Amino acid sequence: MAHRYRLDPTAAQEVVLHQHCGEARFVWNLALEQFKQWHPGRRSSPRPAERFRQLAEARRETWLGNGSSSVQQQALRDFDRALQNWHKGSHRRPRWRKRGQSEGFCVRDVRVRHLNKKWSAIQVAKAGRIRFRVSRPLPAESGMARITLDGAGRWHVSFPAPQAPVDREPTGSRVGIDRGVTTTLAYSDGTFLQAPQWSQRRARRLTRLQRQMARQRKGSNRRGRTKTAIAKLHQRQRDRLKNWTEKQTTKLVRTHDLIVVEALEIRNMVRRPAPKPDGMGGYEHNGARAKAGLNRGIHRQGWGQWGRRLREKAEASGVTAIETPTHFTSQTCRACGVIATESRESQAAFHCVACGHQNHADRNAAENILARGLAFPALAQTPGPGACRPSAGARRSRRRGAAGTPGGLG
Ligand SMILES: [Zn+2]
Repeated sequence: MAHRYRLDPTAAQEVVLHQHCGEARFVWNLALEQFKQWHPGRRSSPRPAERFRQLAEARRETWLGNGSSSVQQQALRDFDRALQNWHKGSHRRPRWRKRGQSEGFCVRDVRVRHLNKKWSAIQVAKAGRIRFRVSRPLPAESGMARITLDGAGRWHVSFPAPQAPVDREPTGSRVGIDRGVTTTLAYSDGTFLQAPQWSQRRARRLTRLQRQMARQRKGSNRRGRTKTAIAKLHQRQRDRLKNWTEKQTTKLVRTHDLIVVEALEIRNMVRRPAPKPDGMGGYEHNGARAKAGLNRGIHRQGWGQWGRRLREKAEASGVTAIETPTHFTSQTCRACGVIATESRESQAAFHCVACGHQNHADRNAAENILARGLAFPALAQTPGPGACRPSAGARRSRRRGAAGTPGGLG
Protein backbone atom coordinates (compact mmCIF):
# COMPACT_ATOMS: atom_id res chain seq x y z
CA MET A 1 0.00 0.00 0.00
CA ALA A 2 1.34 3.39 -0.92
CA HIS A 3 0.18 6.95 -1.28
CA ARG A 4 0.96 8.28 -4.72
CA TYR A 5 1.34 11.87 -5.84
CA ARG A 6 1.90 13.48 -9.20
CA LEU A 7 5.42 14.90 -9.56
CA ASP A 8 6.05 18.09 -11.47
CA PRO A 9 9.72 18.04 -12.50
CA THR A 10 11.28 20.80 -14.61
CA ALA A 11 12.72 19.79 -17.98
CA ALA A 12 16.23 19.72 -16.48
CA GLN A 13 15.10 17.62 -13.53
CA GLU A 14 13.38 15.22 -15.89
CA VAL A 15 16.72 14.53 -17.60
CA VAL A 16 18.21 13.56 -14.23
CA LEU A 17 15.21 11.40 -13.36
CA HIS A 18 15.60 9.49 -16.63
CA GLN A 19 19.28 8.91 -15.79
CA HIS A 20 18.38 7.60 -12.35
CA CYS A 21 15.83 5.24 -13.88
CA GLY A 22 18.43 3.95 -16.34
CA GLU A 23 20.99 3.30 -13.61
CA ALA A 24 18.50 1.65 -11.29
CA ARG A 25 17.44 -0.60 -14.16
CA PHE A 26 21.07 -1.42 -15.02
CA VAL A 27 21.99 -2.33 -11.43
CA TRP A 28 18.80 -4.37 -10.97
CA ASN A 29 19.50 -6.34 -14.14
CA LEU A 30 23.10 -6.97 -13.04
CA ALA A 31 21.86 -8.33 -9.73
CA LEU A 32 19.34 -10.50 -11.55
CA GLU A 33 21.98 -11.84 -13.92
CA GLN A 34 24.21 -12.73 -11.00
CA PHE A 35 21.31 -14.43 -9.29
CA LYS A 36 20.37 -16.41 -12.39
CA GLN A 37 23.86 -17.85 -12.72
CA TRP A 38 23.47 -19.50 -9.40
CA HIS A 39 21.89 -22.93 -9.32
CA PRO A 40 21.73 -25.72 -6.72
CA GLY A 41 25.12 -27.27 -6.04
CA ARG A 42 27.02 -24.07 -6.71
CA ARG A 43 28.54 -21.80 -4.14
CA SER A 44 25.83 -19.52 -2.77
CA SER A 45 25.23 -16.31 -4.72
CA PRO A 46 26.74 -13.20 -3.12
CA ARG A 47 25.17 -11.83 0.04
CA PRO A 48 23.86 -8.25 0.02
CA ALA A 49 27.01 -6.94 1.78
CA GLU A 50 29.23 -8.53 -0.83
CA ARG A 51 27.14 -7.01 -3.61
CA PHE A 52 27.41 -3.55 -2.10
CA ARG A 53 31.18 -3.98 -2.13
CA GLN A 54 31.03 -5.05 -5.79
CA LEU A 55 28.90 -2.06 -6.62
CA ALA A 56 31.36 0.30 -4.94
CA GLU A 57 34.14 -1.27 -7.01
CA ALA A 58 32.14 -0.94 -10.23
CA ARG A 59 31.49 2.69 -9.40
CA ARG A 60 35.22 3.36 -9.12
CA GLU A 61 35.96 1.73 -12.45
CA THR A 62 32.99 2.41 -14.73
CA TRP A 63 30.52 5.07 -15.83
CA LEU A 64 28.28 4.06 -12.92
CA GLY A 65 30.54 6.26 -10.80
CA ASN A 66 29.03 9.36 -12.40
CA GLY A 67 25.54 8.47 -11.20
CA SER A 68 23.97 8.67 -7.78
CA SER A 69 25.32 6.01 -5.41
CA SER A 70 22.18 6.11 -3.30
CA VAL A 71 19.93 5.39 -6.31
CA GLN A 72 22.16 2.46 -7.29
CA GLN A 73 22.41 1.03 -3.78
CA GLN A 74 18.67 1.33 -3.43
CA ALA A 75 18.21 -0.69 -6.62
CA LEU A 76 20.17 -3.52 -4.97
CA ARG A 77 18.02 -3.32 -1.83
CA ASP A 78 14.99 -3.27 -4.04
CA PHE A 79 16.16 -6.44 -5.74
CA ASP A 80 16.79 -8.14 -2.38
CA ARG A 81 13.29 -7.27 -1.28
CA ALA A 82 11.88 -8.64 -4.52
CA LEU A 83 13.76 -11.90 -3.92
CA GLN A 84 12.41 -12.13 -0.38
CA ASN A 85 8.88 -11.49 -1.60
CA TRP A 86 9.27 -14.21 -4.18
CA HIS A 87 10.54 -16.70 -1.58
CA LYS A 88 7.65 -15.75 0.69
CA GLY A 89 5.27 -16.53 -2.15
CA SER A 90 3.56 -13.16 -2.21
CA HIS A 91 5.11 -11.95 -5.48
CA ARG A 92 6.36 -13.29 -8.77
CA ARG A 93 9.99 -14.07 -9.48
CA PRO A 94 12.02 -10.90 -10.16
CA ARG A 95 12.24 -10.25 -13.88
CA TRP A 96 14.39 -8.22 -16.23
CA ARG A 97 13.65 -4.53 -16.25
CA LYS A 98 13.19 -3.13 -19.70
CA ARG A 99 13.60 0.38 -20.93
CA GLY A 100 10.26 2.15 -20.99
CA GLN A 101 8.55 -0.45 -18.81
CA SER A 102 7.96 0.01 -15.09
CA GLU A 103 10.63 2.69 -14.96
CA GLY A 104 11.48 3.97 -11.51
CA PHE A 105 13.92 4.20 -8.65
CA CYS A 106 13.91 4.57 -4.89
CA VAL A 107 14.84 7.50 -2.69
CA ARG A 108 16.11 6.81 0.81
CA ASP A 109 16.07 9.11 3.82
CA VAL A 110 13.30 11.11 2.27
CA ARG A 111 13.25 14.82 2.88
CA VAL A 112 9.96 16.50 2.04
CA ARG A 113 9.47 20.22 2.29
CA HIS A 114 6.03 21.71 2.65
CA LEU A 115 5.63 24.58 0.16
CA ASN A 116 2.00 25.62 0.48
CA LYS A 117 -1.46 24.15 0.78
CA LYS A 118 -1.30 22.46 -2.61
CA TRP A 119 2.37 21.74 -3.15
CA SER A 120 5.25 20.02 -1.41
CA ALA A 121 8.72 19.13 -2.69
CA ILE A 122 10.96 16.11 -2.34
CA GLN A 123 14.73 16.20 -2.36
CA VAL A 124 16.18 13.93 -5.07
CA ALA A 125 19.90 13.26 -5.55
CA LYS A 126 21.44 15.41 -8.28
CA ALA A 127 18.03 16.85 -9.24
CA GLY A 128 17.39 19.04 -6.22
CA ARG A 129 13.89 19.67 -4.94
CA ILE A 130 11.06 18.41 -7.15
CA ARG A 131 7.55 19.68 -6.60
CA PHE A 132 4.58 17.39 -6.21
CA ARG A 133 0.90 18.00 -5.85
CA VAL A 134 -0.45 17.15 -2.38
CA SER A 135 -3.65 15.52 -3.60
CA ARG A 136 -4.20 13.66 -0.30
CA PRO A 137 -2.67 13.92 3.18
CA LEU A 138 0.94 12.79 3.38
CA PRO A 139 1.72 9.67 5.45
CA ALA A 140 2.91 10.53 8.96
CA GLU A 141 6.41 9.22 8.43
CA SER A 142 8.11 8.39 5.16
CA GLY A 143 11.64 7.07 5.30
CA MET A 144 11.46 5.88 1.74
CA ALA A 145 9.87 6.93 -1.50
CA ARG A 146 9.67 5.51 -4.98
CA ILE A 147 9.68 7.68 -8.06
CA THR A 148 8.09 6.18 -11.16
CA LEU A 149 7.31 7.03 -14.75
CA ASP A 150 4.07 5.67 -16.19
CA GLY A 151 3.17 4.80 -19.77
CA ALA A 152 1.58 8.19 -20.33
CA GLY A 153 4.83 9.97 -19.46
CA ARG A 154 3.68 11.09 -16.01
CA TRP A 155 6.07 11.07 -13.07
CA HIS A 156 4.80 10.06 -9.65
CA VAL A 157 6.24 9.82 -6.18
CA SER A 158 4.82 7.25 -3.78
CA PHE A 159 5.36 6.82 -0.07
CA PRO A 160 4.66 3.55 1.69
CA ALA A 161 1.69 3.97 4.00
CA PRO A 162 -0.24 1.43 6.03
CA GLN A 163 -3.67 0.61 4.62
CA ALA A 164 -6.28 2.58 6.53
CA PRO A 165 -9.15 0.44 7.81
CA VAL A 166 -12.35 0.73 5.81
CA ASP A 167 -15.04 2.53 7.78
CA ARG A 168 -17.54 -0.23 8.55
CA GLU A 169 -19.86 -1.94 11.04
CA PRO A 170 -20.07 -5.74 11.38
CA THR A 171 -22.83 -6.94 9.05
CA GLY A 172 -22.77 -10.73 9.52
CA SER A 173 -22.86 -10.97 5.75
CA ARG A 174 -20.82 -13.62 3.90
CA VAL A 175 -20.14 -13.75 0.22
CA GLY A 176 -18.52 -16.09 -2.33
CA ILE A 177 -17.09 -14.60 -5.49
CA ASP A 178 -16.55 -16.21 -8.87
CA ARG A 179 -14.07 -14.47 -11.13
CA GLY A 180 -14.62 -15.02 -14.81
CA VAL A 181 -13.92 -13.55 -18.19
CA THR A 182 -17.53 -13.02 -19.32
CA THR A 183 -18.73 -11.69 -15.99
CA THR A 184 -15.75 -10.18 -14.19
CA LEU A 185 -17.16 -10.78 -10.72
CA ALA A 186 -20.22 -12.85 -9.84
CA TYR A 187 -21.25 -12.75 -6.18
CA SER A 188 -23.22 -15.47 -4.44
CA ASP A 189 -25.85 -12.84 -3.56
CA GLY A 190 -26.60 -12.40 -7.25
CA THR A 191 -24.55 -9.25 -7.91
CA PHE A 192 -22.83 -9.30 -11.29
CA LEU A 193 -20.07 -6.83 -12.05
CA GLN A 194 -18.14 -5.97 -15.18
CA ALA A 195 -14.66 -4.43 -15.08
CA PRO A 196 -14.10 -1.54 -17.46
CA GLN A 197 -13.28 -3.00 -20.86
CA TRP A 198 -11.68 -1.67 -23.99
CA SER A 199 -14.50 -0.06 -25.87
CA GLN A 200 -14.89 -0.80 -29.56
CA ARG A 201 -13.98 2.82 -30.28
CA ARG A 202 -10.75 2.84 -28.26
CA ALA A 203 -9.76 -0.59 -29.57
CA ARG A 204 -10.21 0.71 -33.14
CA ARG A 205 -8.09 3.74 -32.36
CA LEU A 206 -5.38 1.50 -30.97
CA THR A 207 -5.36 -0.70 -34.09
CA ARG A 208 -5.16 2.40 -36.26
CA LEU A 209 -2.20 3.78 -34.28
CA GLN A 210 -0.40 0.43 -34.37
CA ARG A 211 -0.75 0.25 -38.17
CA GLN A 212 0.44 3.80 -38.43
CA MET A 213 3.51 3.02 -36.34
CA ALA A 214 4.35 -0.01 -38.47
CA ARG A 215 4.56 2.30 -41.50
CA GLN A 216 6.70 4.94 -39.81
CA ARG A 217 10.48 5.02 -39.94
CA LYS A 218 12.24 3.70 -36.84
CA GLY A 219 13.72 6.46 -34.74
CA SER A 220 11.67 9.20 -36.42
CA ASN A 221 9.86 11.85 -34.40
CA ARG A 222 6.51 10.92 -35.88
CA ARG A 223 6.98 7.33 -34.81
CA GLY A 224 7.91 8.50 -31.33
CA ARG A 225 4.69 10.50 -31.10
CA THR A 226 2.61 7.52 -32.24
CA LYS A 227 4.33 5.34 -29.68
CA THR A 228 3.51 7.82 -26.91
CA ALA A 229 -0.13 7.95 -28.05
CA ILE A 230 -0.33 4.14 -27.85
CA ALA A 231 1.26 4.10 -24.40
CA LYS A 232 -1.23 6.72 -23.24
CA LEU A 233 -4.18 4.65 -24.43
CA HIS A 234 -2.91 1.65 -22.46
CA GLN A 235 -2.17 3.77 -19.42
CA ARG A 236 -5.68 5.26 -19.38
CA GLN A 237 -7.16 1.79 -19.52
CA ARG A 238 -4.99 0.73 -16.58
CA ASP A 239 -6.13 3.84 -14.68
CA ARG A 240 -9.79 3.01 -15.31
CA LEU A 241 -9.26 -0.54 -14.12
CA LYS A 242 -7.43 0.64 -11.01
CA ASN A 243 -10.21 3.05 -10.06
CA TRP A 244 -12.78 0.35 -10.52
CA THR A 245 -10.75 -2.11 -8.41
CA GLU A 246 -10.37 0.39 -5.58
CA LYS A 247 -14.07 1.15 -5.55
CA GLN A 248 -15.24 -2.47 -5.69
CA THR A 249 -12.81 -3.81 -3.07
CA THR A 250 -13.73 -1.06 -0.60
CA LYS A 251 -17.41 -1.75 -1.11
CA LEU A 252 -16.90 -5.50 -0.61
CA VAL A 253 -14.97 -5.06 2.62
CA ARG A 254 -17.49 -2.54 3.90
CA THR A 255 -20.49 -4.78 3.38
CA HIS A 256 -19.25 -8.31 4.22
CA ASP A 257 -17.65 -9.99 7.24
CA LEU A 258 -16.42 -13.00 5.27
CA ILE A 259 -15.26 -12.97 1.67
CA VAL A 260 -14.41 -16.20 -0.14
CA VAL A 261 -12.60 -16.20 -3.46
CA GLU A 262 -11.35 -18.97 -5.69
CA ALA A 263 -7.61 -19.50 -5.88
CA LEU A 264 -6.57 -17.82 -9.06
CA GLU A 265 -5.62 -19.95 -12.02
CA ILE A 266 -4.94 -17.45 -14.69
CA ARG A 267 -4.17 -20.13 -17.23
CA ASN A 268 -7.78 -21.28 -17.24
CA MET A 269 -9.17 -17.82 -17.25
CA VAL A 270 -7.43 -16.53 -20.32
CA ARG A 271 -7.95 -19.50 -22.62
CA ARG A 272 -8.97 -18.57 -26.12
CA PRO A 273 -12.63 -18.01 -26.84
CA ALA A 274 -14.26 -20.69 -28.97
CA PRO A 275 -13.80 -19.93 -32.68
CA LYS A 276 -16.95 -19.13 -34.65
CA PRO A 277 -17.52 -21.48 -37.60
CA ASP A 278 -18.98 -19.71 -40.65
CA GLY A 279 -20.90 -22.81 -41.78
CA MET A 280 -18.69 -23.25 -44.85
CA GLY A 281 -15.80 -25.11 -43.23
CA GLY A 282 -13.99 -21.92 -42.28
CA TYR A 283 -14.19 -19.39 -39.50
CA GLU A 284 -15.74 -15.97 -39.45
CA HIS A 285 -13.40 -13.05 -39.20
CA ASN A 286 -14.61 -11.32 -36.11
CA GLY A 287 -13.77 -7.65 -35.70
CA ALA A 288 -14.25 -7.98 -31.98
CA ARG A 289 -11.34 -10.39 -31.82
CA ALA A 290 -8.65 -7.76 -31.27
CA LYS A 291 -10.79 -6.18 -28.55
CA ALA A 292 -11.26 -9.57 -26.87
CA GLY A 293 -7.49 -9.99 -26.84
CA LEU A 294 -7.05 -6.61 -25.19
CA ASN A 295 -9.65 -7.38 -22.59
CA ARG A 296 -7.99 -10.68 -21.76
CA GLY A 297 -4.79 -8.76 -21.15
CA ILE A 298 -6.65 -6.47 -18.81
CA HIS A 299 -8.00 -9.44 -16.89
CA ARG A 300 -4.53 -10.83 -16.51
CA GLN A 301 -3.25 -7.66 -14.88
CA GLY A 302 -6.47 -6.89 -13.12
CA TRP A 303 -6.88 -10.07 -11.07
CA GLY A 304 -3.61 -9.78 -9.25
CA GLN A 305 -4.33 -6.19 -8.36
CA TRP A 306 -7.89 -6.91 -7.27
CA GLY A 307 -6.80 -9.81 -5.03
CA ARG A 308 -3.99 -7.81 -3.45
CA ARG A 309 -6.15 -4.79 -2.68
CA LEU A 310 -8.95 -6.95 -1.32
CA ARG A 311 -6.50 -8.73 0.99
CA GLU A 312 -4.93 -5.49 2.19
CA LYS A 313 -8.24 -3.80 2.92
CA ALA A 314 -9.73 -6.90 4.55
CA GLU A 315 -6.71 -7.33 6.82
CA ALA A 316 -6.78 -3.69 7.87
CA SER A 317 -10.51 -3.77 8.56
CA GLY A 318 -10.86 -7.05 10.47
CA VAL A 319 -12.67 -8.80 7.62
CA THR A 320 -11.84 -12.43 6.84
CA ALA A 321 -10.88 -13.00 3.22
CA ILE A 322 -9.97 -16.53 2.18
CA GLU A 323 -9.08 -18.44 -0.92
CA THR A 324 -10.48 -21.87 -1.79
CA PRO A 325 -9.54 -24.51 -4.39
CA THR A 326 -10.93 -24.01 -7.86
CA HIS A 327 -11.82 -27.58 -8.75
CA PHE A 328 -15.25 -28.08 -10.31
CA THR A 329 -16.90 -25.04 -8.76
CA SER A 330 -18.58 -24.32 -12.09
CA GLN A 331 -19.76 -27.90 -12.70
CA THR A 332 -20.98 -28.77 -9.22
CA CYS A 333 -24.68 -28.41 -8.46
CA ARG A 334 -25.19 -26.23 -5.42
CA ALA A 335 -28.46 -28.00 -4.57
CA CYS A 336 -27.44 -31.69 -4.72
CA GLY A 337 -23.64 -31.61 -5.06
CA VAL A 338 -23.50 -33.72 -8.24
CA ILE A 339 -20.56 -32.85 -10.48
CA ALA A 340 -21.37 -33.05 -14.19
CA THR A 341 -19.98 -31.12 -17.14
CA GLU A 342 -23.35 -31.47 -18.88
CA SER A 343 -25.05 -29.47 -16.13
CA ARG A 344 -23.33 -26.43 -17.54
CA GLU A 345 -25.73 -25.90 -20.43
CA SER A 346 -24.00 -22.80 -21.77
CA GLN A 347 -21.67 -20.03 -20.65
CA ALA A 348 -24.51 -18.52 -18.64
CA ALA A 349 -26.93 -21.34 -17.77
CA PHE A 350 -26.59 -24.07 -15.16
CA HIS A 351 -29.17 -26.85 -15.25
CA CYS A 352 -28.39 -29.82 -13.02
CA VAL A 353 -28.68 -33.16 -14.86
CA ALA A 354 -29.35 -34.96 -11.55
CA CYS A 355 -31.89 -32.84 -9.68
CA GLY A 356 -33.00 -30.22 -12.21
CA HIS A 357 -31.72 -27.26 -10.15
CA GLN A 358 -31.42 -24.14 -12.32
CA ASN A 359 -29.34 -21.05 -11.77
CA HIS A 360 -27.08 -18.63 -13.55
CA ALA A 361 -23.85 -20.60 -14.01
CA ASP A 362 -21.64 -17.92 -12.46
CA ARG A 363 -23.90 -17.47 -9.45
CA ASN A 364 -24.01 -21.24 -8.93
CA ALA A 365 -20.19 -21.21 -8.95
CA ALA A 366 -20.07 -18.30 -6.50
CA GLU A 367 -22.41 -20.15 -4.13
CA ASN A 368 -20.14 -23.21 -4.31
CA ILE A 369 -17.14 -21.04 -3.53
CA LEU A 370 -18.85 -19.61 -0.46
CA ALA A 371 -19.79 -23.10 0.75
CA ARG A 372 -16.20 -24.25 0.34
CA GLY A 373 -14.94 -21.25 2.22
CA LEU A 374 -17.24 -22.02 5.12
CA ALA A 375 -15.93 -25.60 5.19
CA PHE A 376 -12.34 -24.50 4.84
CA PRO A 377 -10.70 -25.43 8.19
CA ALA A 378 -11.94 -29.00 7.91
CA LEU A 379 -10.78 -29.13 4.32
CA ALA A 380 -7.27 -28.01 5.17
CA GLN A 381 -6.85 -30.74 7.81
CA THR A 382 -8.09 -33.68 5.78
CA PRO A 383 -6.89 -33.58 2.20
CA GLY A 384 -8.12 -37.04 1.22
CA PRO A 385 -6.95 -38.70 -1.99
CA GLY A 386 -8.47 -37.04 -5.01
CA ALA A 387 -10.17 -34.49 -2.80
CA CYS A 388 -9.86 -30.79 -3.39
CA ARG A 389 -6.62 -29.36 -2.18
CA PRO A 390 -6.34 -26.22 -0.10
CA SER A 391 -4.82 -23.23 -1.81
CA ALA A 392 -1.06 -22.85 -2.20
CA GLY A 393 -0.97 -20.50 0.78
CA ALA A 394 -2.64 -23.07 3.01
CA ARG A 395 -0.34 -25.82 1.77
CA ARG A 396 2.65 -23.71 2.66
CA SER A 397 1.39 -22.92 6.11
CA ARG A 398 0.60 -26.56 6.75
CA ARG A 399 4.18 -27.47 5.92
CA ARG A 400 5.22 -25.02 8.57
CA GLY A 401 2.97 -26.86 11.00
CA ALA A 402 0.11 -24.37 11.17
CA ALA A 403 -2.73 -26.58 10.04
CA GLY A 404 -6.04 -25.09 9.09
CA THR A 405 -4.87 -21.58 8.36
CA PRO A 406 -6.84 -20.18 5.46
CA GLY A 407 -4.80 -19.18 2.43
CA GLY A 408 -4.23 -15.61 1.43
CA LEU A 409 -5.59 -14.15 -1.75
CA GLY A 410 -3.51 -14.33 -4.92
ZN1 LIG B 1 -28.46 -30.94 -8.62
